[in-house]
Amino acid sequence: MYNYGECEICNTPLEERNIQQDFWIKDKLVVIENVPSGVCPQCGEKVVNAEVGEHISGLLKDSKLIDKAPTISVPLIKYEVETEAL
Ligand SMILES: [Zn+2]
Repeated sequence: MYNYGECEICNTPLEERNIQQDFWIKDKLVVIENVPSGVCPQCGEKVVNAEVGEHISGLLKDSKLIDKAPTISVPLIKYEVETEAL
């Protein structure tokens, strides 16, 4: 088990969890599941250790792996501010 230490933002001890992380590779959104991370139960800050970070960048460079991965669809919405009628 890796000791993630404390959250840099609120100094709460980080908890080890496997989480989903998303990355934009050019114009493609790639989601990686089961990423071992330290998560702050207080503010939600997430950190990965150097080894995990390196492994992630290796995965993201593997275009064959990405090409044959299953895909999911995600909602796409526009940022719109409702303007009140004057
Ligand atoms: Zn925190």
